Amino acid sequence: MTQKTCYYCGAAASSVEHVPPKAIFPESKDAAPLVDLRKNLVTVPSCTLHNESVSKDDEYVAGVLWSTHGNNEAGQVQIKKLQRMASNGRGLVKLLAQNYQRDPNSVLGTLRVDVSRFISVFEKVIRGVYFHSTKTALPSHASYNIVFPTLKSDDPDLQPVWATLLSSMAQIPEDKWKLVDGFENPLAFTVEQVIDIEPPIYYFAIYDSFEAIAIPRSFTLKP
Ligand SMILES: [Zn+2]
Repeated sequence: MTQKTCYYCGAAASSVEHVPPKAIFPESKDAAPLVDLRKNLVTVPSCTLHNESVSKDDEYVAGVLWSTHGNNEAGQVQIKKLQRMASNGRGLVKLLAQNYQRDPNSVLGTLRVDVSRFISVFEKVIRGVYFHSTKTALPSHASYNIVFPTLKSDDPDLQPVWATLLSSMAQIPEDKWKLVDGFENPLAFTVEQVIDIEPPIYYFAIYDSFEAIAIPRSFTLKP
């Protein structure tokens, strides 16, 4: 029997981690009668640290996603859960829920978010996707810029950096992107990557509307 190793750090695995984290999708009781967004989520082997270490960030990201991307079918079903969490008194989620109820349109594009928490969640998503596709952990020195085109950062210096990175991404021809296999719930999550680049450039879509683009700070072109 092969010893399973953590998708993130290579230590012995003791559990699994969902990619993306399960917490950002509603449970089926909140999604009924629509599709089960937690169905067919990918899991990768994980040590204890990299399974649970950013669950508070997962919850933060969930709250923002549900508030800002609640306009399509998948996001709509989140509202019930958002309201329930708000009634439990969780501070951030409560704030988001109040904003949502006041005027759903005012939240989209105007809410400044703590991008560092999105980054810590998507650092794990990057590594989870990489492990799932290659069966090896992304080298620990690999480092990424992550751009969230539908968010406004709380850091004003970030916005121009994002604009520059996005315009460089726009130079990549459409036929260089390919869908990453193995993610079987496209309403919840899809991944594309640019072919022939290592480590990969990734494009993630959640609910078919929230986007994240992960660009390695240095990469090589595969022969
Ligand atoms: Zn680990």
